[in-house]
Amino acid sequence: MNANRYTKSAAAFARAKAVLPGGVNSPVRSCKAVGRDPIFIASATGPYVNDIDGNRYIDYVGSYGPAILGHAPPEVVEAVKKAAEKGFSFGMPTEAESELAELVIDAVESVEVVRFVNSGTEAVMSAIRLARAATGRSKIIKCTGCYHGHSDSLLVQAGSGATTLGVPSSPGVPASITSHTLLVPYNDVHAMAHAFDQHGADSGGIACIVIEPIAGNMGCVPPADGYLQALRQLCDRHNALLIFDEVMTGFRVALGGAQSIYNVTPDLTCLGKVIGGGLPCAAYGGREDLMRQVAPDGPMYQAGTLSGNPLAMAAGIATMKLLREGSVYKTLEHHSRLLQDGLTMAAQAAGVSLSVTRVGSMICPFFRKAAPTNYEEATTSDTKAFGSFFRHMLDSGIALPPSQYETWFVSATHDEDVIQETVTAATEAMKQLHS
Ligand code: PLP
Repeated sequence: MNANRYTKSAAAFARAKAVLPGGVNSPVRSCKAVGRDPIFIASATGPYVNDIDGNRYIDYVGSYGPAILGHAPPEVVEAVKKAAEKGFSFGMPTEAESELAELVIDAVESVEVVRFVNSGTEAVMSAIRLARAATGRSKIIKCTGCYHGHSDSLLVQAGSGATTLGVPSSPGVPASITSHTLLVPYNDVHAMAHAFDQHGADSGGIACIVIEPIAGNMGCVPPADGYLQALRQLCDRHNALLIFDEVMTGFRVALGGAQSIYNVTPDLTCLGKVIGGGLPCAAYGGREDLMRQVAPDGPMYQAGTLSGNPLAMAAGIATMKLLREGSVYKTLEHHSRLLQDGLTMAAQAAGVSLSVTRVGSMICPFFRKAAPTNYEEATTSDTKAFGSFFRHMLDSGIALPPSQYETWFVSATHDEDVIQETVTAATEAMKQLHS
């Protein structure tokens, strides 16, 4: 590492550490998992981020998903500027909220009515409250290694055994809350069926399954053939609700989300990231009979001072309109495939064990021989090799998510030249892993 390259970032991090826990406002940004300090960002356009030392990087963090059109697309910038000139937040309804709602409902087939919130965490927390309200049951099932935000019921880790009652994964989360969360391995239909058998479907039983239809928070792990269909059937059989957490996959893998690719209809869908075009916005929506139970149509309470914020709505509308036009998803598929193939070949040339998973523009090189199918397998990846690869790539001007277990995001502005530059850097970085 050439320390001179990062002197301003180093000073900024020292300053930040004095006033922010770990110097950051979200733990992954601290780069602890890859054994270095973060770079501080000054600006970003298209596929690039620029740090405060004046270094430019090709970016695959993509703000952890929102930047599907690249950074600061001119149309979205213009829309936000125009909205800002009219005021930032009113606490009273605007027409933009209905416009974005109509675009979302048009794009995602299972969503008939939608409620906007400010973060993915809020979206999933609220959808679970609705599932509990609608079924009168308390338990929920989630998969180990799926991340659904940091609300109490979802900050759980597995105990021992295939189907386990959750135990808190953070101090401050009462065990009495996570005891309502059952954990099963991803891609394991039998474990899911077993959870239903064990914990019943009557009062106090299972309200819902909440799942990332494509797991994106253990690296990118696609669902096995028929897995999501089997979950739909299990929920139907036990009168439980199926919640797809499409905060990452929604508008990312297809305009209609993962549910349109795998052809499975959830009862409720959580959306985030892309929906706000980079501004804080998320949503939950689904079947009308369920969504009408949300206040003030119904008794399930959920609210938000900044929900449906006009700037976020403007960014979301402009983003959605661009996604509906032209061939964005075809371009993303083409360039993401080039990256997948390039990384695979770079590893082969260097004799490095690597398996690159991908769905559309979500991509993850796992430093292990075979593609993992669940969290347990994912965690046997060589994280030391990833850390070293990450650091080489950063020094070569490529910004990757700073953990083996994060998905990389390709944007519509990552063209063939940008991908080629990335693959060239990766080929060098792979060679250095053995030196
Ligand atoms: N659900 C999924 C699938 C996510 O990937 C994330 C965040 O990465 C969340 C929920 C939480 O979203 P937020 O960070 O906006 O609260």
